Amino acid sequence: MNMNLETIIGLEIHLQLKTKSKMFCSCSNEGENEPANTTICPICTGQPGTLPALNKEAVNLGLLLALGLNFKINKESYFERKNYFYPDLPKGYQISQYEKPLAAKGYLIIKIEGQEKRINLERLHLEEDAAKNFHDGANTLVDFNRCGTPLSEIVTKPDIKSPKEAKLFLQELRLVARYLGVSSADMEKGHLRCDANISLRPKGDNKLYPKTEIKNLNSFRSVERALEYEIKRQTELWEKNSPPEEQSTRGWDEAKGLTTEQRTKEESSDYRYFPEPDLAPLIISSGDLTRVKSHLVELPADKRKRFIKEYDLNIVDANLLVEDKQVANYFENVTSELKSWLSSLEEQEGTAEEIWLQSRKKAVKLVFGWLTSELFKLMNTDNQKITEIKITPENFAEFITIIYQNKVNSSAAQVLLKQMYETGGDPSQIIEEKDLRQVDDSGELSEVIEKIIKEHPEEVRQYQAGKTPLMKYFIGLVMKETKGKANPKKTEELLIQKLS
Ligand code: ZN
Ligand code: MN
Repeated sequence: MNMNLETIIGLEIHLQLKTKSKMFCSCSNEGENEPANTTICPICTGQPGTLPALNKEAVNLGLLLALGLNFKINKESYFERKNYFYPDLPKGYQISQYEKPLAAKGYLIIKIEGQEKRINLERLHLEEDAAKNFHDGANTLVDFNRCGTPLSEIVTKPDIKSPKEAKLFLQELRLVARYLGVSSADMEKGHLRCDANISLRPKGDNKLYPKTEIKNLNSFRSVERALEYEIKRQTELWEKNSPPEEQSTRGWDEAKGLTTEQRTKEESSDYRYFPEPDLAPLIISSGDLTRVKSHLVELPADKRKRFIKEYDLNIVDANLLVEDKQVANYFENVTSELKSWLSSLEEQEGTAEEIWLQSRKKAVKLVFGWLTSELFKLMNTDNQKITEIKITPENFAEFITIIYQNKVNSSAAQVLLKQMYETGGDPSQIIEEKDLRQVDDSGELSEVIEKIIKEHPEEVRQYQAGKTPLMKYFIGLVMKETKGKANPKKTEELLIQKLS
């Protein structure tokens, strides 16, 4: 039987907040880079008689993220104990928020197949992380460094319709978190963790059927793959007329490419939540909110729109730049410098703004091309970030101006950029030092060409007999003779002239 089913997906995301210290004690939050069990204290290891003290910085980062995700902030929220037993949880409970989270009713807009789609978010709350278990053969070891790390948990509404949408949503969420500087949101490092809830239903049916929660999703790819697997598995169940009857939890096995049942789901009542008696209610004043709001920045979606409008970029190129906030900043600094370079050129007339509008398309194309291909390539060779390179935006803008004016040809430009990358030097100075200026002078080029014609009579005869592809060969000889500096266009024009 072929049923017409639709997919319903909701995500639960844990983001590790980038604070200096832990959620309820002053231990370092950098424990993952330290030897096991060294960034711990009686509070985060849950010794009897200790008292938690709330980390204000974690609250501020949680608030900032909530604002970036369009949440309504609860002026008063409180912490509760989520009780369960596991070796990585020495207290026997996790301090979390349940009844009254820090924020509720947010949303994030993603773009799928050219269309904007709003994914509604149910809640954002603060909680502490548990320790980390390591499996060593038959033994399990516990590193408590991660105990008490501040987390922000975000729960979406079941608004997601496909594995691809789930992946796009997570990628956009990661970008928002990075833009706001609240989390490195690195999935590989576990700084962003995701559980996915999925169920199917016949199209037109408005009921929600028991969901399956998938755990252990460590990459965007595994989120997508695991959900695709579940759709297939559950479709088969529906077609056999035996859809899942109760909530269950399944684990994703990356190597085997399948999910396996772990347990049928405990209800939240199993956790015996109750208010944390050692922490006062969390009150957010309007002063707190104003302070946090001042840290909001332009978010990726807005930046993409602005880049498309302001720089005449297409969506793919805008995406590539916005993907990394620092790259986007560098690009903007370069173009702003370039504006003044271009308006200072002698041959240009008009106001700086008029000149920019005329030259923008070509200039931005050059910046984008040289930045994302050649400069990125150089950065890849020694693993540098854009914030670490020696080429200042001023110098990069001058470099683009030089190309814009055809002062060097593209192979010399590559040599020039490499020099700039290695030394941080000024491009016009390097051109003089390395003698890279394009040979543009007809007299000088003519001399070289005549010499070559004299030295290659046989090829000249063949060319004149109709073997025109030899033109490339002649251009190559001119380039060799001028050490790659000849203006290729002018060279070809002169060669055609002299060979005919
Ligand atoms: Zn501690
Ligand atoms: Mn949680």
